[in-house]
Amino acid sequence: MNHELKTTDYLIVGQGIAGTMLAHFLLKAGKKIAIVDAPDQQAASKVAAGIINPVTGRRIVKSWRIDDLLPFAIETYREIEARFGVKIFTQKNILRSFDTNKQFQDWSVKSGREDMRDYISDECDASHLNGIIKPKFAWGEIHTSGRTDLAVLTQIYRNFFIENNIFFEEKFNYNKIEFRDNELIYKQIKTTKIIFCEGWRSAFNPYFGDLPHEAAKGELLIIRIPGVRLNKMIKSGIFVVPVGGEKYWVGSTYEWDELNDNPTEAARSKLITGLQKILEVPYEILEHHAAVRPVFKHRRPVTGWHTEHPQLGIFNGLGTKGASIAPFWAAHFCRHLCEGTPLDEEVEVGSLYP
Ligand SMILES: Cc1cc2nc3c(=O)[nH]c(=O)nc-3n(C[C@H](O)[C@H](O)[C@H](O)COP(=O)(O)OP(=O)(O)OC[C@H]3O[C@@H](n4cnc5c(N)ncnc54)[C@H](O)[C@@H]3O)c2cc1C
Repeated sequence: MNHELKTTDYLIVGQGIAGTMLAHFLLKAGKKIAIVDAPDQQAASKVAAGIINPVTGRRIVKSWRIDDLLPFAIETYREIEARFGVKIFTQKNILRSFDTNKQFQDWSVKSGREDMRDYISDECDASHLNGIIKPKFAWGEIHTSGRTDLAVLTQIYRNFFIENNIFFEEKFNYNKIEFRDNELIYKQIKTTKIIFCEGWRSAFNPYFGDLPHEAAKGELLIIRIPGVRLNKMIKSGIFVVPVGGEKYWVGSTYEWDELNDNPTEAARSKLITGLQKILEVPYEILEHHAAVRPVFKHRRPVTGWHTEHPQLGIFNGLGTKGASIAPFWAAHFCRHLCEGTPLDEEVEVGSLYP
């Protein structure tokens, strides 16, 4: 850091999708920000597929608040694409496989419902999968789904922050916060609030580490399937997601005990077993990555303030769905910061304290 004191409205710690989206809306609102992000730490946002899937699970239910979250996310990504001239969001349907008549019938019934009709259908042509994907009892299709390239999104914003001299590449040192009456000093930065967007590593934050973290490590493979160029995403046990040319993102696994960014043999073989159940064609593994999803006990995003130090805030808990939920809740938090609107009770950090 240089030695001049830099005055900002907000200091954001962590530049995954949470920190990036919050920065996006604060800058749009005309606020001055600085952003600190540690080098050599894997961000979940760097390796996630960025799938936006509005209908999930065995019970075939719409994702939490998806009717609000999805259009807002797409609008935000389109706005960023136009501004930076980069492709971030691609609309892509999901083909979901069914192994039994019962599963498919449940899907069929749901797809006829008024509130689900725009999202899913039981009529889909999966004939192009013949010879590539092993035969399944039936396929259904999810519409309005898509993929956000979170790695590209965070990278273009990182370049922008660097160009504007507001990016500081370092691990945040909590001991260096100086609390003054109406301001905070962190090294050379003077600010009014510090907002932590640290992903799962907020478990090590002395101010928010006591929240009920239930982070989940996930691993994925990037594979090449020679001669195969699928347009749609495949959900058949695991996800196989086209990411350009003959390359596919394959994932993912869940692990709650050993939380770190190290790829493991156990997860690799789980993913290979998953692929064996789906693919009829040969493939090669190009990459293998691991990262940790930031999850709290209530499986909801978290926004708000520390009870004793109200100058310290948190935006976290994006869980398995950062691509669909980050824009909406970043904008919500930004409105709270800039206009004083109340935080939604469901995502307010206080609801998590015992
Ligand atoms: C394998 C896998 C697959 C996934 N697939 C999808 C998907 O298909 N769709 C979807 O929507 N979501 C998916 N997710 C979830 C998604 O990745 C997360 O919801 C989202 O990326 C979380 O963003 P975040 O900004 O909160 O955290 P992160 O992306 O982890 O970013 C946190 C940042 O904070 C930095 N940081 C932390 N502590 C400090 C500190 N003290 N000082 C400085 N910097 C710090 C970190 O280095 C990091 O850069 C997946 C996750 C995984 C692991």
